Amino acid sequence: MIDPIKLAVKTEEIVCKCENDVIMRKYWRFRGGKWYGGIATADCVGCNLRCKFCGPLFAMLKRGKCPGEFKSPKEVANILYNIAHKRGYRYVRISGGEPTICFDHLIEIIKNFEHHHFIFILETNGILIGANKDYAEELSRFHNVHVRVSLKGTNPSEFEQLTMASGHFFEYQLRALKNLLDAQVSFHPAVVASFTTPTNIKILQKEIAKISDEVADSLEIEYIVLYPHVVESLLRHKLIPKKAYTTDWRLIDEKEFRFIFIKKL
Ligand code: SF4
Repeated sequence: MIDPIKLAVKTEEIVCKCENDVIMRKYWRFRGGKWYGGIATADCVGCNLRCKFCGPLFAMLKRGKCPGEFKSPKEVANILYNIAHKRGYRYVRISGGEPTICFDHLIEIIKNFEHHHFIFILETNGILIGANKDYAEELSRFHNVHVRVSLKGTNPSEFEQLTMASGHFFEYQLRALKNLLDAQVSFHPAVVASFTTPTNIKILQKEIAKISDEVADSLEIEYIVLYPHVVESLLRHKLIPKKAYTTDWRLIDEKEFRFIFIKKL
């Protein structure tokens, strides 16, 4: 069972480095895409969870090495800016791994967008924000940041089954919501609902409502997308989604998943 706080420290040693007082982080891809109605994305390397449905993570673990290139905050910001500017996007984000690892590097990137009209979306599993109240306070300094906390399952037991991390760290994800609320950061929670039931989602919503009714109402229901690496990883872990999107955006159920992919099991 992994400890995501300790794993974050270990990961930071591998995917971040300091050069001439500049904190660099590894990235494996930059891209534009249709999410949020158009967004420029920097895909960072490294995460402190081991989600069984994570395509990028599976692809990297399969290669057995740590791909990507070290980039300074300025370089990342410039690439994101150029993609967003050229395509007329309003949003930029870091995704692909956990952006709050190398937190100072992240903050430096955000600073580069302070005086632009872009909204910076921080997509996070929330563990480190739950563990460090000051991370939420630091984020509150920026008017153009919105945090999306992606909850991995609806309760500690689902969290443990999906992420390979000890179930009690699920609580850190909820604590992230509380810390962000207290610091008055713009944010909303999302839940990976592909492996749960409507009843458990309702129970989670009640749990979040103890923090705030408004936050509970803003819960986004997220289903995994069956990209090839995601499917490969699911099959490897013998994890069957109850609901998931095909790559042509059809929401399928467990029965159809089994029908399409059963031969590979
Ligand atoms: S938290 Fe996100 S990036 Fe990290 S392993 Fe899970 S799905 Fe992948």
